[in-house]
Amino acid sequence: MLEGDLTMLRDEELLARLRDLAAFDRRTSAAIIAHLGEVERRGLHLSMGNSSMFAYCREVLGFSRDVAYKRIKVARMARECPEVVGHLASGALSVASAMVLTPVAREPGGRALINEALGRSRREVEELVVARFPDRCSPRGELDRVRVLADGRCRLEVTIGVDASVMDELLERARAVDPQGGNELGAMVHAAIEAWVSERERRRFAQARSPQKHPRPTSTRDHIPAQLRREVFARDGGCCAFVGESGKRCESRHQLEIDHVVPLAAGGLAVADNLRLLCRAHNRHAAREVLGREQVDMGKRHRETRNEMRNRRVKLSSAPTSTRSVSRLESEIEGSLKRLGFMAIEAREAVKRAGLRSEHDPARAMTLALRALGPPKGVKVVASVRSRPG
Ligand SMILES: [Zn+2]
Repeated sequence: MLEGDLTMLRDEELLARLRDLAAFDRRTSAAIIAHLGEVERRGLHLSMGNSSMFAYCREVLGFSRDVAYKRIKVARMARECPEVVGHLASGALSVASAMVLTPVAREPGGRALINEALGRSRREVEELVVARFPDRCSPRGELDRVRVLADGRCRLEVTIGVDASVMDELLERARAVDPQGGNELGAMVHAAIEAWVSERERRRFAQARSPQKHPRPTSTRDHIPAQLRREVFARDGGCCAFVGESGKRCESRHQLEIDHVVPLAAGGLAVADNLRLLCRAHNRHAAREVLGREQVDMGKRHRETRNEMRNRRVKLSSAPTSTRSVSRLESEIEGSLKRLGFMAIEAREAVKRAGLRSEHDPARAMTLALRALGPPKGVKVVASVRSRPG
């Protein structure tokens, strides 16, 4: 189709070909988005040593930052709302309009909004979202936005919850202490976000400025003393130590966690040789390999359900404290569940329901406990009922 001298084509033939190519382009783009969703669902990008779909799209598929960002966002929405792929292929919905819908597609009424957005421009879809989901916008009715520019830099539009006069005064002070730097707002925002992340990472990995010389001995098997966490952090170079099937090391510095190579539930110890630094994506991926995809996905669904509940300000009740004694295996399984992201109350209830008293095999005990958690909708939500003393 692409062969031949276009200058020889008749006008109507040229226009017909271009229409066909545009339709082909839309179908291809929709198919790429559907494929991206499936690659992410299977975790294939993680097995290859990429810390994220973004890294995979950039390094393996050669997408630009902007294209990678948009296609991944839309692919995630399309996994929840598969009809989106068809709308993209037919041209009823553009990728730009779909992007606007991504934050609200999973909300009640989100699917209906997708249908309303068909055939509308991006701006019209923005107006629809702002009108229907005012709580997802700034107080002035604007959506916060990250846009990736052609040169790879990003444009960030945010609404900051302070009075404009307060911000003016702050910027005035910034210019007073550093006349040049105080004028570079982008650099200041970047530095502020980096400082925010570093501070939290320092706390998480116990990067104390003056670490204890003689740390207290560890009292339980699953406790990782601060000194050991520092040692693992330094040994792994402060980045993810996951190595993909092709030998590629991830090296992400994003959302790092300490992982037990041999899980505690399978007899692994909290010693340097059995610990490694993993990004959250690879930690979850490694857990999936050990425990089976279904169980970890169940854990993820539980966390999502729980977060959703929290967002809706539903309070989970605190259960009455159990007075029964628990075996060592039970408390280890409880600890493992908590590290998988379950709440203490959920972990405690699961261990109790699983009936692990006479169980000796840690791996089987873990499987029973995960099964006892049941499907996500089984998470009990009780409105702040507290047991009264006496
Ligand atoms: Zn990683």
